[in-house]
Amino acid sequence: MLSIKQFTFNAFQENTYLLYDETKSAVIIDPGCSNSSEERELLNFVEQEELSLEHLINTHCHVDHVLGLNFIADKFNLPAQFHALDLPVLEAVPNYATMYGFNVMPFSGEKKFIAEGDKITFGKTTLDVLFVPGHAPGHVVFVYHPEKIVIGGDVLFYGSIGRTDLPGGDHETLITSIKSKLFPLGDDYVVYPGHGPKTNIGFEKKNNPFLN
Ligand SMILES: [Zn+2]
Repeated sequence: MLSIKQFTFNAFQENTYLLYDETKSAVIIDPGCSNSSEERELLNFVEQEELSLEHLINTHCHVDHVLGLNFIADKFNLPAQFHALDLPVLEAVPNYATMYGFNVMPFSGEKKFIAEGDKITFGKTTLDVLFVPGHAPGHVVFVYHPEKIVIGGDVLFYGSIGRTDLPGGDHETLITSIKSKLFPLGDDYVVYPGHGPKTNIGFEKKNNPFLN
């Protein structure tokens, strides 16, 4: 049985997810913690639940999804895992952050690239990796088929889709990704997005104005 703990962090209201099962093995997805109180909130939860963090994985590497990357990689001695096509996105973060008026240190930890078809295993749980570019060039989502759960990053939101005006973004690619990769999962798959509330594929098929 998968447990999902959602945190909403930083000025961009980004959703960071901790997934764990009954073995207490856990993964963290898109760590956006940006200051000591957010870091403390995250660590407190890990300590309270006695979780063992086994993977640090990212759907993509936009600034709001990586603000806690150095902190988590250092604290838990984990490589940051993301798609190789998002490496330039990660490397652009310090400059990009400067435009928003704040400072972000370059990521200094170990990197490990993941791609569609890879499996992320922790405890008794295995997540499948799907490649869904468009919002970011190397965007992936993590799917847990036994419970029909998708950790979806910034691809599909409740009633909306990810923006495509950032470097490496492409609207047609994003629409194709959603229709060819997410829709076939099935109407009852629940999507936990990088911003805002969760939704499901069936609802978005019917109601999402960007997908009709
Ligand atoms: Zn993004």
